[in-house]
Amino acid sequence: MADIRKKKRKQKSPLDGIIKVLAVLCIIVAVVLAGLLVKEMTGESIPEPETRGDIITTDNISTTDAETSAALSEETTEKETTAEETTQEETTQEETTQEETTGEETSQSMLWAEEDRIIVNPEQENWSLVVVNGTRAIPEGYTPELSSVAGTDVLMDSRVAPYYTAMYNAAKKDGITLTPYSGYRSYDRQKRNYNNLTEEYMYKYNLSREDAAIKAATVILPPGTSEHNLGLAMDICNTYDSFKNQKEYKWLTEHAHEYGFILRYTAEKQPQTGIIPEPWHWRFVGVEYAEQIKNSGLCLEEWLTANGIAY
Ligand SMILES: [Zn+2]
Repeated sequence: MADIRKKKRKQKSPLDGIIKVLAVLCIIVAVVLAGLLVKEMTGESIPEPETRGDIITTDNISTTDAETSAALSEETTEKETTAEETTQEETTQEETTQEETTGEETSQSMLWAEEDRIIVNPEQENWSLVVVNGTRAIPEGYTPELSSVAGTDVLMDSRVAPYYTAMYNAAKKDGITLTPYSGYRSYDRQKRNYNNLTEEYMYKYNLSREDAAIKAATVILPPGTSEHNLGLAMDICNTYDSFKNQKEYKWLTEHAHEYGFILRYTAEKQPQTGIIPEPWHWRFVGVEYAEQIKNSGLCLEEWLTANGIAY
């Protein structure tokens, strides 16, 4: 009898071991799950601030929407058109500037208030001098006639594209390549990008839609307020602040006006334009005006006012 019990005990013991191992595993799994739950609740798993890549991804998802034929042709340049508003460095720069200058934040908020925005006519007589900014936008759905520039698939207003190509060719002769980085961008695309970022900010910073929209406007311009929506602007080579140290920038500062282009957004005119310095962003105003505007030292808005030109 004693032998049988002994035998039974011997048979039981490996099972006991497995149960113990299972129990330990259960505890480990429970601890890991609890850890994940805490992480989730403390928000650690919320994605990092948006990067250029994130915005492209979001936008690519949206491109399954029905598009106009003009917007379709722009799809080819989609990858390039992340533009000045979307780089992380600029966001930081923008925020720093706002903190440094007292009152700037208020004027910025007012600048981007949608209800105060004027709808401008992009087909007016002085079409090359049309101003869009935080208080002025083109009508929804406006699409200029478009042409590609310098043998690429990057588009600009057809009336402007030949001037860019001529400038590109002239620079090439001087050993400078003015790579068209980002040209025309459709109103609809601008709207999608802007709305996506607004919604992201509502969630990320727990803001009202209005406040999130104002914050988003410091990174992506609201639809119709970007010169890229007009087809009159080109971001050249890249959208890095360091572009101002490149030989391409130096060439542009010396020659762009000969082809009707001006540097649009400088640090000293940020209070007037509401836009951070953008050495890569060149705006067509026409050969007849570019040199005058450049020599005046005024930004486009100021120059038009000083010359009594309605815009
Ligand atoms: Zn630009």
